[in-house]
Amino acid sequence: MEDCIFCKIINGEFNTEFVLENEFAVVFKDINPKADTHLLVVPRKHVESLNELDDEILLGKLMITVKEATKKVGLKSYRTVINTGKEAGQEVFHLHIHILAGNIKL
Ligand code: 5GP
Ligand code: ZN
Repeated sequence: MEDCIFCKIINGEFNTEFVLENEFAVVFKDINPKADTHLLVVPRKHVESLNELDDEILLGKLMITVKEATKKVGLKSYRTVINTGKEAGQEVFHLHIHILAGNIKL
């Protein structure tokens, strides 16, 4: 989607390094980390928020991607966060799952 920062990242416009990528999602470091490790799991498909996603396969794949990413970076203990809607703190309107570990400030 035009003007979506995460779509641009997925399309490689900023040469963002991916911690992990698969058919369904990419994982990269948050630019403004709120913990020692702060990753974002982002579906390749533009979906505004969790409220707009009913695809059970994609929902499942996103959670599996969380596990793949945490395993890859060696995390056994971590927090996952999904902000849905402005009032809940969502700032980027392309669905993403935060992964946070170590000195979490969120
Ligand atoms: P939200 O508040 O929408 O749940 O989270 C958006 C997250 O995206 C924030 O933690 C913010 O730091 C991160 N973010 C915003 N723009 C960029 C960017 O251009 N690159 C990366 N890596 N993270 C971003
Ligand atoms: Zn997008």
